Amino acid sequence: MIRNCFVCGNHTQHKCEVFYGEFMQIQDCGTLHIGICSHCGYIYIMNPLSQETTNDYYRTNQKHDTTSVNMDSAHAKRSQKQARFILDAIGSIETVLEIGALAGGNLNIYKEMGLTVCGTDLSINNVEYAKRQYDIELYQMDFDTFYVENNDCFDLVILSNILEHIIDPYSMMKKVAEFNTNYVYIEVPGFDYKYIDMPYGMFIPTHQSYFTLESLKNLMKCVGYELLDANLLLADGEQHQSFNTPLMQSVWQRSERYEVKRKPSCLKTTISSEQHLDFYLNSSKLLIENIAGVIDRIPDDLRLAVWCLSRHTALLFQHTTLSKKHIVKFYETDDIFHGRIIRGRKVGYFSKADVEQNNIEAILISSYEHQNRIVSQIIESGVNCEIITFYE
Ligand SMILES: [Zn+2]
Repeated sequence: MIRNCFVCGNHTQHKCEVFYGEFMQIQDCGTLHIGICSHCGYIYIMNPLSQETTNDYYRTNQKHDTTSVNMDSAHAKRSQKQARFILDAIGSIETVLEIGALAGGNLNIYKEMGLTVCGTDLSINNVEYAKRQYDIELYQMDFDTFYVENNDCFDLVILSNILEHIIDPYSMMKKVAEFNTNYVYIEVPGFDYKYIDMPYGMFIPTHQSYFTLESLKNLMKCVGYELLDANLLLADGEQHQSFNTPLMQSVWQRSERYEVKRKPSCLKTTISSEQHLDFYLNSSKLLIENIAGVIDRIPDDLRLAVWCLSRHTALLFQHTTLSKKHIVKFYETDDIFHGRIIRGRKVGYFSKADVEQNNIEAILISSYEHQNRIVSQIIESGVNCEIITFYE
């Protein structure tokens, strides 16, 4: 268990545990312990997955590959918006490095402006696509390998949705500062303004570090940077806002004003990181109590199917009476779970025939983000059974 703050070195507090158990696609992430440093406001997982496990996940996870990301016009539009925000805040630059550059579409914006660009990504598909499509060289390596092998300096370093995956963000930013001449862009899921969505939804096993503007500012002060501008990206166009929205965008510049030291005098905000975290944990608790009430009212002998084996289902088993209900079947769209037996019940695809064959009387949708899509699928199938949902 990591008990000292990576950012400022102070002793931290254990705030709560979130249990995900056997319902995750990644091994060894049964219970997440959430900690906070009251001094600098840094929120983190006290028992993180190893950096290697996280990197492996992103090396192989298709969602982060070219096929879905690069063709997506919403993503291209967001890259343009991000570039405008950065370029408005900074002075002139010649070189850009993006860590975790995906398929290079983002870097291509800067290349087309005549700047020299370079990037890293873990996925070989992304690296090959960037070369083929944009003639951009990406290094297929993790950040630490790049740090050892790199001899160049960069005027702007882009870290978009990277820092939340890092166990020790202080060490990473200290290394970035060694090869950055002037500006850094950081985009992370933020705690300062948060929609109420699924309970504890912010805490996903591949996110090791969580930031408010307060804690990010303290981190960057420790490595000698000051804030030029910050912004909240409030929506991604989806009806249901997921764990990673809103996003916090921020641009930083090296500053001679700050003496680079491990324990800075910390900026105080009117609402502290700790208060943001406490409010979030409280609203999660209330939300899960409401869900528990809905589950209590399900008759114990009702033949039930549960749709979605996810961290959400793990929460329901831990915090509600779901395990006492008459679950006949689990449905799951993702074939990673298929053929498995969970809690003594088979996992399979949903079909009208399966519902009828198993005399299922109700389907409980255990998902925040996919709820509406699943409900539509059930209705379109023409199956005649009750649908239980938890979210508007
Ligand atoms: Zn701290």
